[in-house]
Formats: sequence, C-alpha cells, structure tokens
Amino acid sequence: ATPTSIMVGSGKGAQMGVLFREGKALQQLREVQTVALDKTGTLTKGMPELTDLTTDGDESDVLRLVAALEQSSEHPIAEAIVRAAKERTLSLPDPEDFEAEPGMGVSGTVEGRSVQVGADRYMEQLGYSLDAWADTASTWADAGKTPLFAAVDGRVVAVLAVADTIKDSSPEAIRALHDRGLRVAMITGDNEHTAQAIARELGIDTVIAEVMPDEKVDAIKRLQEDGPVAFVGDGINDAPALAQADVGIAIGTGTDIAIESADIILVSGDVRGVANAYALSTATLRNIK
Ligand code: ADP
Ligand code: MG
Repeated sequence: ATPTSIMVGSGKGAQMGVLFREGKALQQLREVQTVALDKTGTLTKGMPELTDLTTDGDESDVLRLVAALEQSSEHPIAEAIVRAAKERTLSLPDPEDFEAEPGMGVSGTVEGRSVQVGADRYMEQLGYSLDAWADTASTWADAGKTPLFAAVDGRVVAVLAVADTIKDSSPEAIRALHDRGLRVAMITGDNEHTAQAIARELGIDTVIAEVMPDEKVDAIKRLQEDGPVAFVGDGINDAPALAQADVGIAIGTGTDIAIESADIILVSGDVRGVANAYALSTATLRNIK
C-alpha cells in the first residue's frame, strides 16, 4: 500500500469514528478471517441489573449480607447487587474481611458471618454442592441471565441472577460482519449457558465461555489456528488479548489500558465500526493494486 492510500483510508475512517493508530492496521485488517468480540461492555452495555433472587432464608437479610460484601468489589456484577440493595434502602455495613478471586467470585466476613458469592465453579471449588439450586440457575442462564450463588456461614442460601442488556447496535454489527464473510466469535468469562443464549440471540458462530481473565490470550491463539484474528474489547482484562490478536480493536468508551493496547479505536463504542473498518481496509488496498 502506498502511504497516500493509507492516509486517505485513515482519514475516511476518522470521519466514521474509526481511528487507525498505525497505517499497518488498515493493511492487516483485510487479512482477518475471524472477528472475536468480548461480551461484557463490548456487545452488551456492561451495566447489569439484579433481576432475580431465590432464597430459603430471609430475602432482605441475604441481599444485605451479599451486597455488603460486594461493596468491596469493582466488578459490574457487584455494582448491580449493591445498587439493588440500596434501592431497597438496605443499610450496608463494611465487610471486616474481603477477598476477590477474578473470574470466580468474592469471599469475606460481614458482621462476623462468613459470606461467599460467585459463579458455580467458584462455589464448587469452595466445596459447596449446588444441587438444590441448579435447576433454577440453569433456567435463568438459558434466558441469558448470569446466575450467582450465595453462601452464608458455610451453607448455600440463595441463587441470584444479573442480566446485562445487548447494545442496540450489536445485532446489526454481527450481521454486517457475516455479510462480509467473516467468522464471528464471542469470548467471555460468563457462564457457558448464559453466553450461548446471548450468542444465539446475536447469531454468533463460535462461543468461548467461562474464560478466566488470564486465559483470553489462549482463546485468541486457538482462534488464530484458523487464520488471522481481530479482537474487539473494552476492559482491563482485554489488553493482553488485544495485543495478541493480529488486529486489536478497542471500544473508545472502554478502559485506557485497552485503548493503549489496540491498533484501532472505535471512538463512540459503536461495534458497527468493525465492519466499516474492514470494508475500508479492503477498499483502500483494492485502489492501489
Ligand atoms: P466477564 O468480564 O465476562 O464478566 P469476569 O472474568 O469478570 O468475566 O467474571 C466471570 C464470572 O465470575 C462472572 O460471570 C461471575 O460469575 C464471577 N464473578 C466475578 N466477579 C464477581 C463478583 N464480584 N461477584 C460475584 N461473581 C463474580
Ligand atoms: Mg468487557
């Protein structure tokens, strides 16, 4: 590609809210066969809400203890639970003790009581049996909600669900990528069934779910076995995957570290920009051949 054609292509991109950090990205994008996208904050709004809570104990008491613990977590799920508790005007004590396990859940002490909240794999790792709650959880997961389990003083007492909203632009963004013959994959730390339900709604081909934060790079490498990959993400956890991908594309409204790790930035966070960038990439290079 000539420097001029790349400059023209980059200029057109900027008009569409797609920033190419280097001309090289414009050239590499046309080679891509798979576009992998992070789920939370990229395809969804990343602002989940607490939608369900089933307990064999007192609902307010369980929500109060769980929310008190989640005050110490910065995860969007934690924020959803804390918000729900505050909306119910529950007053939340500070936990005496708190520990977060990334991609799994949180554990600590509230008012002298031991509290744990997290994914099924987290609770099972802690030695809990979820048999009594599994049916409820799987119904919610199949509806695209994220089930979480809560234990107090060594006993599972509740199952909760949080749900995130798909961005209005996501279905069209996926369709546009398919129209251009690209394979579309979704990578998420979320529950397998939840991820499958959301992928089904969006028409996504490949789902890689229950990926721990430090495993996203491996997920990209696996997709790269079939050809060059573009990865689209927004979070701190996405930075290594953005660097590993042949083309890293960051959501402009995402974290600074994701933006710094990317080759291309979607300024307004509109994922339709990916297909636009791809079209620009193929058109720019066609002109100079
Ligand atoms: P994602 O960014 O896709 O949500 P994460 O790796 O951040 O992936 O989280 C994966 C899963 O770990 C969540 O779906 C949830 O089940 C569990 N988890 C993580 N943090 C928390 C938390 N603060 N409270 C409860 N569960 C959590
Ligand atoms: Mg994200």
